[in-house]
Amino acid sequence: MGGRRTEEAAQENAPPKAGPNRVLRDARPEGTCISVGRVEIGGPGFVVMAGPCAVEDAEQTERTAAAVAAAGAHVLRGGVFKPRTSPYSFQGLGEPGLRMLAEAGRRHGLPLISEVMDASQLPLMVEYTDILQVGARNMQNFALLRALGKVRKPVLIKRGLAATIEEWLLAAEYVLDGGNEQVLLCERGIRTFETAMRNTLDLAAVAYVKQRSHLPVIVDPSHATGDPALVVPMSLAAAAAGADGLLVEVHPWPERALCDGLQALTPERFQELMRRLPPVLHAMDRHLWKPENPAQALGA
Ligand code: PEP
Ligand code: MN
Repeated sequence: MGGRRTEEAAQENAPPKAGPNRVLRDARPEGTCISVGRVEIGGPGFVVMAGPCAVEDAEQTERTAAAVAAAGAHVLRGGVFKPRTSPYSFQGLGEPGLRMLAEAGRRHGLPLISEVMDASQLPLMVEYTDILQVGARNMQNFALLRALGKVRKPVLIKRGLAATIEEWLLAAEYVLDGGNEQVLLCERGIRTFETAMRNTLDLAAVAYVKQRSHLPVIVDPSHATGDPALVVPMSLAAAAAGADGLLVEVHPWPERALCDGLQALTPERFQELMRRLPPVLHAMDRHLWKPENPAQALGA
């Protein structure tokens, strides 16, 4: 008897295990559903976030927003703080870019997702955007993850270029542990020995993480492949693997893009993607997200 009590006391005083726990499926078996404006991510509706890699100017942003909204996208993406491999590459427009993105989003009724690279950018990003994106290169920026734990906005965490699933889940654990439970995971391809594509899309990770965690999982087929010809098939495969949504790069003039133009879908190809998703989603007992109440569609 006494032995059992000592054992329990020892367990209570034991340091918590270092592995993930708050993000695990057991912590919330019903799954997490995240509201972004009127859009719900993680429920039966599949959510498509689309837009340029980087906001370049007002016209490009407006054209892209108009095209993706008309094709049925739910969230507008656009980077204004760009993590570039070279310091000489276009680094993003900063706050003026956020104003362009916000203007285009408002005009077309789309909430916004954009990357935050540093905790010092948070006040600005929180003011303008609806989902804060953590880039692959920042997945283990623990100071940033801690700061995002204090924010009351959804956070999308991209998997690091060479991160294991466990490391990716632990990055999400930082944000949940900090007090913010609105976290989305994003598989964007990992670096492998394969060089035919920009990265290797780890679709098994999507199915695996859906089982292991209660958090919604998004797939970014643009960075995962680097090739617009592969973005449509891999988006359909992501839907079949159980993803909750997509993050896709679209540009009205890919050949002129200042960032990631080679992988951007044209508006026409994006339309094709939106046309081809419903039958795959139907086979998975899902559908493209739509408002429950049709009055919501009018923003009422
Ligand atoms: C991006 O979304 O444009 C981006 C930089 O992605 P990643 O962090 O996945 O490379
Ligand atoms: Mn990009």
